[in-house]
Amino acid sequence: MRILVAGGAGFIGSHYVRSMLSGAYPGYEDAHVTVLDKLTYAGNPANLHPVGAHPHFAFVRGDITDAELLANVMPGQEVIVNFAAETHVDRSITAAGDFAVTNVLGTQRLLQAALDAGVRTIVQVSTDEVYGSIASGSWTESEPLLPNSPYSAAKAGADLLCRAYHRTYGLDVRVTRCCNNYGPYQYPEKLIPLFITNLIDGRRVPLYGDGGHVREWLHVDDHCRGIQLVLDKGTAGEVYNIGGGVELSNRELTGRLLAALGVGEEMVTRVPDRLGHDRRYALNSGRIRSMGYEPRVSFDRGLAEVVRWYRDHQSWWRPLRQTGR
Ligand code: NAD
Repeated sequence: MRILVAGGAGFIGSHYVRSMLSGAYPGYEDAHVTVLDKLTYAGNPANLHPVGAHPHFAFVRGDITDAELLANVMPGQEVIVNFAAETHVDRSITAAGDFAVTNVLGTQRLLQAALDAGVRTIVQVSTDEVYGSIASGSWTESEPLLPNSPYSAAKAGADLLCRAYHRTYGLDVRVTRCCNNYGPYQYPEKLIPLFITNLIDGRRVPLYGDGGHVREWLHVDDHCRGIQLVLDKGTAGEVYNIGGGVELSNRELTGRLLAALGVGEEMVTRVPDRLGHDRRYALNSGRIRSMGYEPRVSFDRGLAEVVRWYRDHQSWWRPLRQTGR
């Protein structure tokens, strides 16, 4: 099987590729994986070093908005998993245009190229943020999309294009909507790696507003297993929430990180709230659970391992922090 992984040099995409090529997904041991990645600030060839010499691995540097390039790489591919996106909400608030171009136009170009080349199945990796904010309860997949940031609006646009390509052309595209991920190789601008690396360096951590924003957390390995299950057993045109069930306020999460690094509240700086900051996200993951899905990594174990990983891999993250981008 030939699989094209767009955005495979980023945090989650590279985990998926490393897992696939190390035989973690039964039935896919012989898969040939081509990563297509623009290598923006968030894309890092080092994330793929562990599989760089694998005989079934190929890398193409390129942009998913480049229709000509897509027409060249697509023939022969049977599956596409699309991770490629601009992903940092704070950046979307100061530079929304890049998000519209990559997340919306890029996804449309990818779908069109897949349709033209007769690709069998596409999995579009989306986010719980497309639903907006929910005060209590949790979202099922039929909830309306009410995104509040340019990031989530652009991701919602991509989700709707997937729906349209399925309804209009019969393309087999499936959408996954996952909650917040954590794990190794996450770019140190996102909350967990930012806080860990700051604390390793004895720097204070910035906590938005009152710290009462609630997020659901899932280890990246569990997210990737969910994506794989949707690829294997999902239905064309369907949407699948992938939740972890571990709900924490940013204040609670910060407390756990402070404890893990052995420091106290004095290391927290309160900063003005993010514009349009969603208060709470929560997914109902009944649909994927009914397919046998269950997260495996407990949050306590996962968080301890991630803290250890950032302590042990300073040569990976220090250059990223020094660029100041
Ligand atoms: P990331 O920012 O770490 O990686 C994104 C990757 O996409 C990078 O390698 C980057 O170079 C590449 N890319 C960006 N623009 C591109 C373009 N125009 N053409 C080709 N490649 C391009 O992101 P991530 O955290 O790994 O997220 C991957 C996907 O999962 C995204 O679609 C995101 O919306 C979704 N998601 C992320 C989370 C999370 O908590 N990180 C949660 C749910 C869903």
